[in-house]
Order: sequence, then structure tokens, then C-alpha cells
Amino acid sequence: MRNKDVDRKSDILRDAVIDELYDYQIDKVEMMVRDMQELNKASCISYPSACPKCGSNSPRWIKGGFTGSGKQLIRCADCNARSTVDHGQLTWYSHQDESKWNTLIADTFDEKPIAHTAADINVNPKTVFRMRHKLLVFMEPLAESLILSRPAELDETFVSESHKGYASEIRSSHKRGGSARIQGISDDLVCLTTGVERQQGTSYIHAYNMGRPKSKEVEPFFKDHVKPGTYMWVDGERCFPALLSQYNCDYHTIKSNTNPDQVNHLNNVNSWHKRIKDLYEYYRGVATVYINRYATLFSLKQKYIGCDIQEIVLKVRKSLRKISQYFFIKDLQTKHIFDECTVMAHREYCKQHSAKPVIPLQNSESINIADMALTF
Ligand SMILES: [Zn+2]
Repeated sequence: MRNKDVDRKSDILRDAVIDELYDYQIDKVEMMVRDMQELNKASCISYPSACPKCGSNSPRWIKGGFTGSGKQLIRCADCNARSTVDHGQLTWYSHQDESKWNTLIADTFDEKPIAHTAADINVNPKTVFRMRHKLLVFMEPLAESLILSRPAELDETFVSESHKGYASEIRSSHKRGGSARIQGISDDLVCLTTGVERQQGTSYIHAYNMGRPKSKEVEPFFKDHVKPGTYMWVDGERCFPALLSQYNCDYHTIKSNTNPDQVNHLNNVNSWHKRIKDLYEYYRGVATVYINRYATLFSLKQKYIGCDIQEIVLKVRKSLRKISQYFFIKDLQTKHIFDECTVMAHREYCKQHSAKPVIPLQNSESINIADMALTF
């Protein structure tokens, strides 16, 4: 117990409770309560800056009742139309309350499986799947603004293609977590191009292609996420030197047959790859069509490294308040409007293989893969 001779007051705990706790325990409880208060404040949606109905840029908002799920409705004084206070934001059209969304964000960053979150917030796993993917789509703009501007390590890693959640007719399925059909780097593998600034700086990862990267495919990485003139350490990948020269970046190539020293190494990027692969294995793969949504998560996890989970939720909620996106939830699964690059690469892959179907049907009819690729 704490020394009762030293007077201690708390605006959160009663005196009788304070007497029964140690000082560090009182500090811990106070900190937890303050974090929660701050988080709840950050989760409060501010009124939209423009009216979504009439487009007025300086609307005067009048409170206009509540929706059936308890969400605040606001009325624009100019056009008299009502809209919800979270119009176009993460929680728009969601019946789940703010605390469930906060738990979902925490569990997503904590690498909890969907079933775990579903049990945690008492919501159907299908709803949690949609909430998770809505969150990942909303976070994409946060990762898109990441730019490597300090000395960085550049490398690529490969994960096996996954058709998790839907059956593919262009190749036979392998057991979850199983290896690719072809040994070595082939078009069966998804290539994740990765850049990591040293000393826990900015990191960015994105999938642009299947198999070995080509200059044209990975150019957006250099164009949008590398500041011209940034010094880079690269592995022996053939397409990187030309692109680095194009963007005026000096570089040092670390060949596989040379021993890395204290300065010239790829330890940071390799350790990140290891963490990603462990997570990928833990998830039993991520459907390739969604790989860039998870790449966003990997990049942001790296950005918030060193923060505790409450801080991460707070930072994410604050950042997401500035983001409005409009799409149908059903499109999260049926249309891959957010993932164009990977989908294009996959379609290309389907086309290339259309001349020689991988799986013969039992009645020996061939599959028209070209048709199937369009519906992908
Ligand atoms: Zn209006």
C-alpha cells in the first residue's frame, strides 16, 4: 500500500480507493482514463465542412434528430436537406457504434483474426470482414502520402498468390500456406516492393506485379514514394539501378555473394520482410486481390512503431477524420476498384496462361480462361 503520510488527491478515484492502491497503480488508472477520454473526443465526428446535398462550402448546420441507430442527423440551413454527421466517413452507413470501431482498429493493428474481433465486439464475422476492409480502404490515402526522403534500403519480397475466399479455375488449389507449383521466383508469386528508411523512419510497401519486377511496373514506387536524390542500398535486382538513376538517387548495390558490413547492409528491410512473412503465415495468406490493402496496413504499422495500441487508435481516428470516400460496401468484394495495379497484373497473368489451361476438366472440356479473366 502507499505511504498514507503523503497526501495524494485524484480527480478520478475516490479517497477510499486511493488509500488501497500504490502510487504507480493510481498513475496507471488515471492514464488509462485520460487516454479513453481523449480517444472518445477524437472519435466524435465534427460537422462536415461542405454540405453533401447542395455543395454549400460554408453551411450553417442545425441539429435534425437522430437516425434509427442513434446517429446524429444535421440539417443544412441553405437547402434544408438532412444528412448524418459522419457523411462519407469511416462510420457512414454503419450501425456499429464508435467503441466497436475503435476495437476493430485496435484489433486490426494488433493482428487479431476477424473471428477474434467478431467475438470481442459481438458482431457477425461477415460484418467484421466488411468493417475491416472498409477501414483498410479508408487508410489507403494515409499510406499513399508516405515518401522516403532519408537514406533507405530497397528490396523486394515474394509471397504466394492466394485465392482465399473464392475458387480459382485457372490453377488447382494448394493447401493453405502450401508452396507454389514452380520452384524459385515465378509468376505464381506476388512481388512486394519495399523501401525502409534507416533508424525507424518512413517505410512503404506495395504490390505492383507478379513475379520478377520490371522497370515499367515498379516505376510508380520511385515516382510517388521516393524523394529524388535519396541515397539507397539495393540488392541485385536488375530493374532498380536504371530507375534510381532516372530519379537522381545515388545507390550502393549489395550483391548476394558479398559480405555486408556495418554500413552496407539490408538488415532493416530484411527484418521487416521477416515480420510481414510471419504475419502472412499467421493469416494463412491474404487474398491476392486484397494484398495492397494489407500492404497499407504493413506500412502504417511501421509508421506507428513504438506507439501503444491506444495511441495508434487515437492517431488513426484523428487522421481518418480528414478523409471522405464514397463507395458501396458491396463493391469491397465484387469490384477491385481500389487495387487496380494488382488486378491488372493478375488479368495479364490469366491471359498469358489462357492458351494452356492448367487444370483439365474431368469431362476433358477446356476452360475458356479469357472469359473468366474478365469476370475476375
Ligand atoms: Zn445544403
